[in-house]
Amino acid sequence: MKKIYLDHSATTPVNPKVLEAMLPYYKEHFGNPSSIHEFGKVAKAALEEAREKIAELFNCSPYEIYFTSGGTESDNLAIKGVAFANKNKGKHVITSKIEHHAVLESCKYLKREGYQITHLPVDRFGFVDPDDLKKNIREDTILVTIMHANNETGTIEPIEELAKIAKEKGVYFHTDAVQSAGKIPIDVEKLPIDLASISGHKIYGPKGVGAIYIRKGTRITPLSHGGHHERSRRAGTENIPGIVGLGEAVKIAFKDMDKYNEHLKNLSVTFLKKLKETINDIQLNSHPEKRISSTLNISFKGVEGESIILSLDMKGVAVASGSACTSGSLEPSHVLSAMGIEPAIAQSSIRFGFGRDNTLEDVDYVISVLPEIIQRLRSMSPIYTQSKK
Ligand SMILES: *Cc1c(COP(=O)(O)O)cnc(C)c1O
Repeated sequence: MKKIYLDHSATTPVNPKVLEAMLPYYKEHFGNPSSIHEFGKVAKAALEEAREKIAELFNCSPYEIYFTSGGTESDNLAIKGVAFANKNKGKHVITSKIEHHAVLESCKYLKREGYQITHLPVDRFGFVDPDDLKKNIREDTILVTIMHANNETGTIEPIEELAKIAKEKGVYFHTDAVQSAGKIPIDVEKLPIDLASISGHKIYGPKGVGAIYIRKGTRITPLSHGGHHERSRRAGTENIPGIVGLGEAVKIAFKDMDKYNEHLKNLSVTFLKKLKETINDIQLNSHPEKRISSTLNISFKGVEGESIILSLDMKGVAVASGSACTSGSLEPSHVLSAMGIEPAIAQSSIRFGFGRDNTLEDVDYVISVLPEIIQRLRSMSPIYTQSKK
């Protein structure tokens, strides 16, 4: 059976070139970068070379890049690290209602520690209104954390405007750029952001490795203590093979950004068009244009998202409902709820995440099996069939 992976927002396969770059660092170049002999020097050189590649993505100095174990750790370090280091100035943090759980739970933890958290609302497409940010910044606000692109819908937030507002008020600005890295430019000379998180496995790199951009001069407390790795901001022997892989993945993503965006846009736009031609009563939850080109969130009225996933899986097609992190729970997605989408519609949503290796044939295959699935599921749905009488 054909196997088609359309869940690239959850994770991506490792690019063969990335894997090739990593392998020597598991084998002959296994040194510890803290060692001063030749083995150590080779590993250290690889570490610093990867750092330069990440710095190119952000257009920043390599000294402003720190390696972590992934997007989750980068978000934790940004939010808790800045909150701890600046608590004498204030204990108020602003975020949005549609953040990834790594951000929401870090904020929840801070709340238990006596910080105050404001969750900004979003509109029908998931956009934060810059005026809302302006209104909610207070004397004691120390950090604003708003994601660059949403993982469930692909919606791109007006980060430049938001960051400028924070900057004017002298408040640190963090963005979770895990979904946007390699898809939209994140040039920190143009965007006045102070911290940004990225992850390897969302951009054809390995799992368990990520990085964080921390602007020079940012006051931040480390969360792990030990040796002087990562200039004392993140103790622990560096995951050299993973870091080399992340560097390579970032380099490829950055170099080929336009080419792949064009390809992804073509796939997702074609898919949406054909979907509308073959299935009625569908609703696009993502913004039609201001979204990363890979991601489409679509509701199929009257059908449970989970049933669609299982039926598509039997046809060899892998998709997600709402978000990979919330699937398995019966709660409607917090992102779609915040967008004002009613629970029944939210429950019927599917996230299609296109990737570099997908083709127009893949699109045609899904279009050849999906209408039948939806029709069958709808015929078994009393609510849907009744509404049509
Ligand atoms: C996947 C993801 C994360 C978490 O990254 P990990 O490397 O899996 O820990 C954080 N934020 C967003 C927006 C994501 O999509």
